Parts: sequence; C-alpha cells; structure tokens
Amino acid sequence: MNLSELFVGTYAQVYSLSCMLLILVMMFMMSLRLLWDRKRKAYMTLTVSLVVIMVQHVLLIVLAVHREPAVSWIGSAEQLLKVVSFLMLNRAIYQLYNSTRARDTLYFYSLLLVTLLFAAGQFQIPNWLEGTEKQIRLLQHLGLEIYLFVLILLSLLILPPRIGQAVKFQAATIAYLLCHIASIVNRYLMDEPLLFFNLVEYYVPLFYYFILFLFLFDRIVELMHTIYRSSITDGLTGLYNRKFLIKRISQYTARELPVSVLFFDIDNFKKLNDTRGHQAGDDALRRVAQVLLEETEQIGIVGRYGGEEMVVLLTDSKVKAGDLAEHLRQRIEQSVGVTVSVGYSKFRGGQTTEDLLREADTAMYSAKTTGKNKVVKYTKSLTKNQKGLEA
Ligand code: GH3
Ligand code: MG
Ligand code: MG
Repeated sequence: MNLSELFVGTYAQVYSLSCMLLILVMMFMMSLRLLWDRKRKAYMTLTVSLVVIMVQHVLLIVLAVHREPAVSWIGSAEQLLKVVSFLMLNRAIYQLYNSTRARDTLYFYSLLLVTLLFAAGQFQIPNWLEGTEKQIRLLQHLGLEIYLFVLILLSLLILPPRIGQAVKFQAATIAYLLCHIASIVNRYLMDEPLLFFNLVEYYVPLFYYFILFLFLFDRIVELMHTIYRSSITDGLTGLYNRKFLIKRISQYTARELPVSVLFFDIDNFKKLNDTRGHQAGDDALRRVAQVLLEETEQIGIVGRYGGEEMVVLLTDSKVKAGDLAEHLRQRIEQSVGVTVSVGYSKFRGGQTTEDLLREADTAMYSAKTTGKNKVVKYTKSLTKNQKGLEA
C-alpha cells in the first residue's frame, strides 16, 4: 500500500465511511433516547432516517471493498436509500422546528413516490436502450442522480427560512451538494475519476454529518433549555414561579446572607377584573411584573407568588429595602395605573425562608388594612396585632 492509496484509495474511502458510521451511530443513540422520552413525530422520523442512512453506508462500504459487487442490486439499493434517507432527514429537520401539517405530509409522500418511480424505472432501461453492461448501469442510475440534485436544491431553497440554525443547515447541505456534483462529474463526465473529485467525494460527507451532528446537539440543548425554563417560570408573567422562588430564597437564608423579602399585592384587583375584563387584568399583571424585573435586574430576584402577589428577593445589601419598595410602589402606580400594597422583612439571622415570607406577608396585610397603596416594614408588634385580630 502506498501513500496515495492511504489517502485517496479504497482504504481512504472505507476509513471515512467508517467515521461517518460512527457519527451516525451517535446521532442515532441521541435520537432514540429522545424518542423514548418524548414521543414526537420529529424524533420518529429522525430515528428511522438515521437507520436508513446507516444501512446505506454499510452498502457503501461493501461497494468500496468489492468494486464489482457480486450482487448487482447493491448499487441500485444504495442509491435508492440515499435519496429516501435524504428526504426523510430533511423532513425530520423540518419537524424539529415545526408541527407537521397535512400539506407537508402530502408533499413528502409525493416526493417519495417520485423517488420510487425513478427507482422502478431503472429496471426498464436495459429493455429500452442498447449498450455495454457498464453504460447501461450508469444510465440506470442517472435518473435518480438528477432527481437527488433537484431535491438538494429544493431543500436549500425551502427549509432555511422555516427552521432554526439556518446557517449550519445551509453549510451542511451545500457540502452535500458539492459531494453530489463531484460524484456525478467523476462518474459521468470523466473517463478516469479525477483525484480532486475523489477527495471531495470521500471527505466532504464527513463534514456534512459532523455539522448535522452539531445541529442536532444544539437543538437538543435548546429544547432542554426551554423545558427547564418553563418548569421554573410562570407562563403569564415570565417571572420565576413560587416553587423556584422559594428554592432561591432558601439558598440565601441557608447561608445567612443579609437579604430582604418584599411582598407585593395588587390592590382591588378583583374589581379591575370585574370592571375591565380578565384580559385587562392579565395585562396589568404582566406590566407590574415587567416593572419589577426592570428595576431589580442587578439587585435581586423576582417571582410570582400567587394570583396577584409578587415577591422580590433583594440580594444587594447596599440597597435599602424600604427605599426600593417605595420606589417600586410609585413606579407601578405611574406606569401601570394600578396600586400595590407592599410589606417587607429583613433577614436578621435564624429565620427560615417560610418565616421571612410570612413576615413580609404580615407587613403587606398591615398595609392592606391601613388604607392600601403603601409600604409597611415588618416589626414584631405586627405579628402580635394580627394575632389579636385573629383571636
Ligand atoms: P385587595 O385589594 O384586598 O388585595 O383585593 P383584591 O381584589 O386585589 O384581592 P382578592 O384576593 O379578593 O382578589 C384577587 C383576584 O385576582 C381574584 C382572582 O380572580 C384574580 N386573579 C388571580 N390570578 C389571576 C390571573 O392570572 N389573571 C387575572 N386576570 N386575574 C387573576
Ligand atoms: Mg392577594
Ligand atoms: Mg389584591
């Protein structure tokens, strides 16, 4: 074996095909895992298309090793699988970002049907044309080769505006297109395959599958991130939900850090809902949340505690809780047009998260019962007063 055989000969082809198989197996494992967890159509299509591509690559290895295969259908089968898997893979990529409508399914099956017609037509070529065995074999494959070329162009045109990571997808598909052109030129236009086109044919597909691997990996990270975010946030306001907020407060109280909890409750919110409608109520909630987020971005954490109750955990000990609460109360009144009653409590050491929240709530309750639209600081006497009221 000489050096050129190592890099451009059969060995090179088998080596690069094996690397591709490895990438494909990794993608397949990822896809299977996703399918197992969440039975989405996209993962189903992806898993099946990866199986088809893997089988196609095994056939490619067989073809590379036996230049003149004993079984003549292997070449035809490989080509058919190549086109079918390209169609399926593109459908899977589309489904990863879109829900499939009946029309998309119709397009897909129409393209698949045309593929099968081309494949079936191959077997008629020897009856229609005359020539040497090699010429006939080449012509048999020409229809599907040109059809795949059209499919690649269509996918470059149709998919990028409809999916995420469009640049990655375009780079991968252009690489695929280059390989396809190289293989057509080598097979149909050259007497002897050109070294440069051989190199493109052997090595550029590696790039194609590597980019696809990254594409899938990024999409999974993106999806996991979305799932995680929706598990810790409230859908209406985008603030942290109660469970996550309590968890975050506990991280601070456990370390005895000097935080404060500010408890906000919108005044007469039921009346706003009753007079201006639920939609206006939702809108007010969103806008109050937005003000709290904007104003505390660098100094604290905001969560939706209940219906129209929101809590700010002030983590910056340089900011005075009372001043911040008063500033927020005024800004909400001015920019949203609703008023809030606010109670706040400082961590003095020894309190649990529940204690701190209860104290801030008690102070907020005191603001409610003494005229609303104001800020009250928690003191021990408030608890005694409340106990007196409840008794
Ligand atoms: P107060 O001044 O004493 O706080 O009175 P209030 O009307 O604000 O308080 P109350 O607890 O009587 O009513 C709260 C209302 O908030 C009742 C509920 O229908 C409404 N609410 C809770 N969650 C939502 C929501 O997500 N959207 C809307 N639009 N309303 C909500
Ligand atoms: Mg309330
Ligand atoms: Mg209220």
